[in-house]
Amino acid sequence: MIDEIQPNYASYSIDELEDALRHVDSEAYPQRVQAIKQELQIKRAQHTAAKQANTEHSDNEQFFKCPSCLKSISFFSKAANSWGKTKTCPHCGAHFEVRMNYVALAIALVPLVFVHRLLFIPILVAMGLPGAIGMGVVTGTAMALSMRFKKPSQD
Ligand SMILES: [Zn+2]
Repeated sequence: MIDEIQPNYASYSIDELEDALRHVDSEAYPQRVQAIKQELQIKRAQHTAAKQANTEHSDNEQFFKCPSCLKSISFFSKAANSWGKTKTCPHCGAHFEVRMNYVALAIALVPLVFVHRLLFIPILVAMGLPGAIGMGVVTGTAMALSMRFKKPSQD
């Protein structure tokens, strides 16, 4: 049976998905209803995680931003990956520390594990690789999402 090509629901916003769910012909496209519901679940989980992470922000705790000058510092930049606990901002020269936010880590893992099961495992299996490899990627991503740059405590 050849199904009509589905819209790319992954690119939809939560509002658009809810709208699509209201208007889709569930008799004619049961797979679409499933796909929309699945995507909504992922998007809502991500939304909650993002909101949670934002609430935890304080002026002294920034998400990939220098806590002093508020300019972005890439997670992959030399400054963020330099050796030692205290890093130096490449923009203003202020020192900051990298801390793990374990609450954010736990929250980030939930949608990521979900995405992992839906996306990574089928891809890895299709490539003939064990699905367990994807878990490392998921954990690494969650850890990157949970890093916070803080002013050194002695300040
Ligand atoms: Zn700075």
